[in-house]
Amino acid sequence: MRQTTEHRTQSTDNRRQRKEKRGLFCVLCSVLCILYSVFCVLLLSGCTRPDKIYKESRVLMYTICTITVVSSSEEKAREAIEAAFDEIKRLEWLLDYYSPESEITAINKAAGKFPVRVSKETLDIIKKSVYIAEVTDGAFNPTIGPVMKLWGFSRQRQGHSLPSRKEIDRALRLIDYRKIRIDEARSEILLEKEGMEINLGGIAKGYAADRAIDVIKEKGIKAALVAIAGDIKGFGLKPNAEPWKVGIQDPRPHKKTADGNPSKEIFASLDLRDRAISTSGDYQRFFVEGGKRYHHIIDPETGYPAMSQVISASVIADEGYMADGLSTGVFVLGPEKGIALLESMGLDGVIVDSERNVYITQNLKGRINLKKHLKD
Ligand code: AMP
Ligand code: MG
Repeated sequence: MRQTTEHRTQSTDNRRQRKEKRGLFCVLCSVLCILYSVFCVLLLSGCTRPDKIYKESRVLMYTICTITVVSSSEEKAREAIEAAFDEIKRLEWLLDYYSPESEITAINKAAGKFPVRVSKETLDIIKKSVYIAEVTDGAFNPTIGPVMKLWGFSRQRQGHSLPSRKEIDRALRLIDYRKIRIDEARSEILLEKEGMEINLGGIAKGYAADRAIDVIKEKGIKAALVAIAGDIKGFGLKPNAEPWKVGIQDPRPHKKTADGNPSKEIFASLDLRDRAISTSGDYQRFFVEGGKRYHHIIDPETGYPAMSQVISASVIADEGYMADGLSTGVFVLGPEKGIALLESMGLDGVIVDSERNVYITQNLKGRINLKKHLKD
């Protein structure tokens, strides 16, 4: 009987000891878990560097090209910037009207003779430029080459000339975007008439900005801004979580710089959230003769610089080629038709006319910040 009682007391003691051991083990595990979590948090906060802005500018496509990238790694940022510049350089090589080696020159040389096999990018941008020609009813016309050549607005050649009416009329007979034959299956382009020439100066920079952004995204970058002169495309947010801000230049600033050139003043600014903006202006390339300004945006109907009263046209669209092509087309169409076209396409735009009146698409009105009144 006593033995049984002793046995019971002993087994109760054993159970208590086992329980105490288990409790101690649990406490130890919890402490280890907490220590491990603290260690991980410290380790991660040590590894995650803050996002920074990396920016580089180079001369490409005969203009200043600036690429801004947001990244926590300088190495990744520089690699993405380099790849984007390479892509712009590659497109310039394919599309340059002035280069004897470009695919565009090959197409132009073979006009009226035979189709030319081209890269998928050249085929793609020509297709897109024909689309812009269709929606603008030919105000944007990629076959503007022969007339453009007469006006001598080449970026390589500083000289300019006032062509004769006869020369312009002769060149106008070659301007017809409907005579661009595109064979997608064979990746071939044929210009139907001898002497025809494609000039993509009004769309190539916006297209290149699109491609540069694609390349930057492929590198795993989460935000960037590509600006090829006035053709800008952005995506993502800045490190302070704000969207990219872009300004629109006053086409007729009152102030001058120390060397007598017009100063670059901004008259409006807006947020660019995963979109592109392009501005076409008569102040970008022009010459003055006999007190008259001759600029580089040609009306394909007349062969003369467009006299639509527009002095600046900005278009905001999802894609750079669209913003670029349409800003040129809208410049030719004029303020009323231009705004109506943009609104019908669900796009945004700002147009300034020669009286310094500002026209803004309905949808953009509350979202654009007019910094100064152009009438002042
Ligand atoms: P942008 O600055 O984008 O308006 O482009 C102007 C450039 O587009 C000119 O330098 C020409 O190469 C070309 N261009 C001029 N007039 C036209 C037009 N009506 N349609 C298409 N391209 C044009
Ligand atoms: Mg353009």
